[in-house]
Amino acid sequence: MAWDFETEPEFERQLAWMRAFVRDEILPLETLVDEWRRAGGSARFARATAPLKEEVKRQGLWAAHLPPELGGHGFGQVRLGLMHEILGRSELAPAIFGNNAPDSGNAELLAIGGTEEQKKTWMEPLLAGELRSAYSMTEPGAGADPTMLTTAAVRDGGEWVINGHKWFTSNASVSDFLIVMCRTNDDPDSEPRKSYSMIVVPTDTPGVEVVRDIACMSDPEPVPGMPGHHCEVLYRDVRVPFDNVIGGEDGIGQGFVLAQRRLGPGRIHHAMRWLGQCQRAFDTMCERAVTRRASGSLLAEKQLVQEMVAESWAEMQAARLVTLQAAWKMDQLVAAGGHHSDARIEIGVIKFWGARVLHNVIDRSIQVYGSLGYSSDLPLEAMYRRARAARILDGPDEVHKVSVARQLLKGYRPADIPTEHVPTRRAAALAKLGDLLDLEAANT
Ligand SMILES: Cc1cc2nc3c(=O)[nH]c(=O)nc-3n(C[C@H](O)[C@H](O)[C@H](O)COP(=O)(O)OP(=O)(O)OC[C@H]3O[C@@H](n4cnc5c(N)ncnc54)[C@H](O)[C@@H]3O)c2cc1C
Repeated sequence: MAWDFETEPEFERQLAWMRAFVRDEILPLETLVDEWRRAGGSARFARATAPLKEEVKRQGLWAAHLPPELGGHGFGQVRLGLMHEILGRSELAPAIFGNNAPDSGNAELLAIGGTEEQKKTWMEPLLAGELRSAYSMTEPGAGADPTMLTTAAVRDGGEWVINGHKWFTSNASVSDFLIVMCRTNDDPDSEPRKSYSMIVVPTDTPGVEVVRDIACMSDPEPVPGMPGHHCEVLYRDVRVPFDNVIGGEDGIGQGFVLAQRRLGPGRIHHAMRWLGQCQRAFDTMCERAVTRRASGSLLAEKQLVQEMVAESWAEMQAARLVTLQAAWKMDQLVAAGGHHSDARIEIGVIKFWGARVLHNVIDRSIQVYGSLGYSSDLPLEAMYRRARAARILDGPDEVHKVSVARQLLKGYRPADIPTEHVPTRRAAALAKLGDLLDLEAANT
């Protein structure tokens, strides 16, 4: 029976290298990013991170999420999860390891569903870090329910003509191409989930207008030219070759299937990165607890603070185990020739549970720091603002809860008399074993 919570020594050595690299090389950069932004954007940032990316490549850890035939290492989801937990400590780390959203998910999407030509044109340069991409699905009028998306692509000879209005297309303003979810079947009676396709649109195509980087909680004053912004995008009579539909002719109507396949492993990586953030907030909180005194004793000696420490650790540990178990299940499914999507209960749970724990732990850490925690002299307030998005993106928590509950309830049947009804069970037990009672009475 395999039920193992240990990491192989060889991979543990790689994890140790990553921990040291994130701590010594990446975390210090964080404190300079705002100055670089004010000084004119991404060129300095790119200069500072280029040698780090080279080092990651030398270690063979670049874009590790991909299968071996595409330059990855076949790590599987458990090992990738452990790796993302370390990268999650800093929001800068994923880009330095070649697996930042949305590029990593888009590369996977092209790997899973793209034609050979699409892989060559878009995926390979994406993996090499030569191109940047964005994923353009959500619209001002439709998000959680994608069957309400109205952006449409109409075939005109050898081209698609796309019209629509998207928003929250992360990185659109710095992207080279967008993957646009469009309705490609204008028959109103068609099955909605088979009526959408994904089309690759180079960002400089006439008719594509990136209207703005949307100011939001994580970045109230977006600086143009920097990655990480969420953008509003208009598509007006945008013409691209017919072959830009992902999967070619076979990919028409496959938009939702591809979207699901893109999101499964991505959610494991998200959830493990959230745990990296949690651990950082937790370490920060504990350091304060053993340092700060109030009302005659250390905070660490106050039961209400101890409760925060214990609750946080318990929640993090539960989130970690449930996420690694989901990753393990995915690996088992794939090894048996199945598919990730059969782990949808586990994937749904880690999405909303992970988002909740992320919020709770950062919130408690801020609380233990009081005014200092609320200030930007510590990273906690920025972590807190970013964490809020976790409950909304990749589908709001409510949608995942509904889906998890539906799946779980499928395993149950109605019962007019509850299965646990004691009088009924007692009558059944008497009918089965009543003779024994008589026997015992006779023997006493
Ligand atoms: C930081 C960030 C980055 C993002 N990046 C991208 C990106 O790169 N590309 C992209 O296409 N999109 C992106 N999004 C958009 C994201 O996918 C959507 O916000 C999400 O799908 C929810 O859609 P919505 O915002 O339109 O909310 P709505 O669909 O309007 O839902 C609003 C609220 O209604 C409730 N609700 C909705 N449905 C249900 C239900 N079935 N049951 C119960 N309650 C429900 C929930 O409380 C939900 O939060 C990003 C969002 C954020 C915050």
